[in-house]
Amino acid sequence: MAMVTADSTTSMWTILRPALNKTVKIVGAGPAGLSAAIAARAAGASVDVFEKRRDVGARFHGDFQGLENWTSDQDVLAELEQLGIRCIFDHTPVHEVICFDPAGQEFRLHSSRPLFYLVSRGPGVGSLDWALKSQAMVEGATIHFSNRKRKLEDGGVVAEGPHRPDVIAAGFLFETDMADGYYVAVGDQLAPAGYSYLLIWQGRGTVATCLFKKFHDEREYVDRTVEFFKDKVGLRWSSARPFGGSGNSSRVKKVTLGSRLYAGEAAGFQDALFGFGLRYALVSGSLAGRSLALGLTDYEERCRQRLVGLNNTAIFNRWLYSMLGDRGRCLVLDRFVRGRDPRRLLGRIYAPARWKSLLSMLVPKFPLMRSEQYHHDCSCSWCRCQKAAALAR
Ligand SMILES: Cc1cc2nc3c(=O)[nH]c(=O)nc-3n(C[C@H](O)[C@H](O)[C@H](O)COP(=O)(O)OP(=O)(O)OC[C@H]3O[C@@H](n4cnc5c(N)ncnc54)[C@H](O)[C@@H]3O)c2cc1C
Repeated sequence: MAMVTADSTTSMWTILRPALNKTVKIVGAGPAGLSAAIAARAAGASVDVFEKRRDVGARFHGDFQGLENWTSDQDVLAELEQLGIRCIFDHTPVHEVICFDPAGQEFRLHSSRPLFYLVSRGPGVGSLDWALKSQAMVEGATIHFSNRKRKLEDGGVVAEGPHRPDVIAAGFLFETDMADGYYVAVGDQLAPAGYSYLLIWQGRGTVATCLFKKFHDEREYVDRTVEFFKDKVGLRWSSARPFGGSGNSSRVKKVTLGSRLYAGEAAGFQDALFGFGLRYALVSGSLAGRSLALGLTDYEERCRQRLVGLNNTAIFNRWLYSMLGDRGRCLVLDRFVRGRDPRRLLGRIYAPARWKSLLSMLVPKFPLMRSEQYHHDCSCSWCRCQKAAALAR
């Protein structure tokens, strides 16, 4: 993993950049908002980013995430560099994942090209969020922290992340003496309609269950996931601390509303199948920032070309995956996944297909969490107690 400090990133581009008499306002300093800021600065606009929290990545906790490398033949890091996003965050390519089917059978998935890049999230040095913030600030964007924006009256980029939980991930972050390794387990016992994962890199680990339903039983599924990995791969840890979060994966509707452009999860750009939304956020943010800075009207069309087909296809795939049940998943993993290159296979599954997009229209909407389903004064990762209280008022 290479690490570059923010101080060394002032580029010639900053000096040579044309100056536009335009200010782009952005709500949210997540991956979508910060990539929008970087693109808008590169196009020569002044940039103001409003972030409601005290720092970037504050909804994450240093957990490992995967920057997927299968939705396009182009390597994701090359795509980011092409968009002007410098890959100065710590990252390591992952070629091999050990997979457990619902019956607990183990098999290896090996890919000749990286399946994903392991990155960390949160405000800490070396994380993806830190790198994006560093680049945006070095290139001249102003980030206003602890500044919640309700509405962008004069337009701008709305990149405020998910609004409701359609998927949650919860688990533990920890230290360990285990060797580096990447594991995934499928099965309703551990993660109803989802999957569990264990990622170990250089003495740090993330173990979590990713649920698409039964959110109220989150703790039980986390405990089962931990026990499973203890049993199967000898999970050992110290300094474990719980973490969690949620995402929303709805159909993409309009991504422009007057002079407001929506990007990232705020627009519905998320991988409905497995929740790998980072790449979608970075790409859509970058497209939005550039379009707005240059006064172009191409954002909707460019999103349609690059992201909307992926989104619709993933919605159909999610429906299929949840209908399969454990027996179906065992069969599919056995017949079609075992022994294949997982990157190529995922590439085919995710590839936008017209018939899947059409059928996705028939897929019932994801169940919306209603206010009475939220807890009260709890600490679970998806619950919006405060929002529920506000709704009740
Ligand atoms: C636990 C977990 C694990 C995940 N793992 C993966 C993974 O392995 N791979 C992957 O690709 N994706 C993963 N994801 C999904 C990925 O993190 C998201 O898709 C991505 O962060 C979305 O980026 P975003 O910029 O759209 O939103 P966010 O990252 O949510 O950023 C939005 C920002 O806007 C701010 N904000 C919100 N409202 C306002 C307001 N009114 N005013 C000012 N600021 C505001 C928020 O504080 C936040 O900083 C995971 C998600 C979770 C929760």
